[in-house]
Amino acid sequence: MSGAGKLKPSSLVVSAGRPRDRGQALNAPLVPASNFILGDEPVYSREDGTATWAAFEDAVGALEHGRAISFSSGMAAVAAVFEQVPAGGRVVLPDDCYQGVVRLALEGEQKARWRVTRLPTEDTPAWVAAAGEADLLWLETPSNPQLILADLDAIAAVPRRQGALLAVDNTFATPLNQRPLERGADISLHSATKYLGGHSDLLAGVVAVGDDELYGRLFAARQCNGATPGTLEAWLSLRGMRTLAVRLERAQANAARIAAFLEGHPDVVDTRYPGLESHPQHELARRQLDGYGAIVSFVLADATAADRLCESVRLIHHATSLGSVESTLERRGVHAGQGHLPPGLIRLSVGIEDADDLCADLAQALSTT
Ligand SMILES: *Cc1c(COP(=O)(O)O)cnc(C)c1O
Repeated sequence: MSGAGKLKPSSLVVSAGRPRDRGQALNAPLVPASNFILGDEPVYSREDGTATWAAFEDAVGALEHGRAISFSSGMAAVAAVFEQVPAGGRVVLPDDCYQGVVRLALEGEQKARWRVTRLPTEDTPAWVAAAGEADLLWLETPSNPQLILADLDAIAAVPRRQGALLAVDNTFATPLNQRPLERGADISLHSATKYLGGHSDLLAGVVAVGDDELYGRLFAARQCNGATPGTLEAWLSLRGMRTLAVRLERAQANAARIAAFLEGHPDVVDTRYPGLESHPQHELARRQLDGYGAIVSFVLADATAADRLCESVRLIHHATSLGSVESTLERRGVHAGQGHLPPGLIRLSVGIEDADDLCADLAQALSTT
């Protein structure tokens, strides 16, 4: 699209990936196809993709300033990246990280596929020291669920060994708040299930890369493993993305209000939100993010109090996952592999409801703990 490079992200998110020719529908077509008439590409959708996937990929690629490949879920995208690690290679993973990624990494280590080192997300010198020796540096920033930041500029500046990859799980920030490829990462990855889709009604994943050779390898991984997105899921992911900028703007404004409310509440032991001045990395957040996101994590006295709050909310839903229009919360310690968390830690994904109503709901739920 002409002039697309000059557009701001909130324009790109609306315009990228749209048909441009006269007489075409404004929206990319929903193409439910496995195969095509022979004689030209595409031939078979697992091998060549479809116009529906391509439209979603074009939009993500435009936002991330790279080329994107869509997958059946965020974890399918993660698996395609991990597959790039050479046999016996070294994977470096943050202490605070999406539990599915931790599981995939540790199971691969058990099968002697690779070796795993864990580092604290915020320990930049440790990441800098590891960067020269790793085959895959996996960063998640802000992290799930503790909202810790990794210093992307500092870590990406370290020369990596030949073929080594720096991957950033950009799910929490979205491409509107953070573009890792611009900061020197090789891969930016999303669970499109979350903010891109934005309505808790699909599973999808996507990776964006700057390098053509890496693009080819990840595309080949999808061809081989068959972790292709569903047609409707890819279409809905793009449909969801069209409103990402306004959804995020509202959700972030709500999150800032709620974080301030929680920080001032006597029953809340700790409130974690990158936009709070009390966040230990607030300065880095200001430098690295274009917005502070819409996840707020907070800690109650113990697991019992947290469980009671989760059972008492009326507007907010007691449910896992995040990034949707409706607010959801859960106590994260209930999940396997999350033993490092304070038992009373609750992750709240702030939606686009009215901020007064959300604060009132939290106030009444806190009064039951
Ligand atoms: C949900 C999530 C994933 C996994 O995505 P799925 O679509 O559930 O497979 C990966 N990373 C982060 C940060 C997530 O929140």
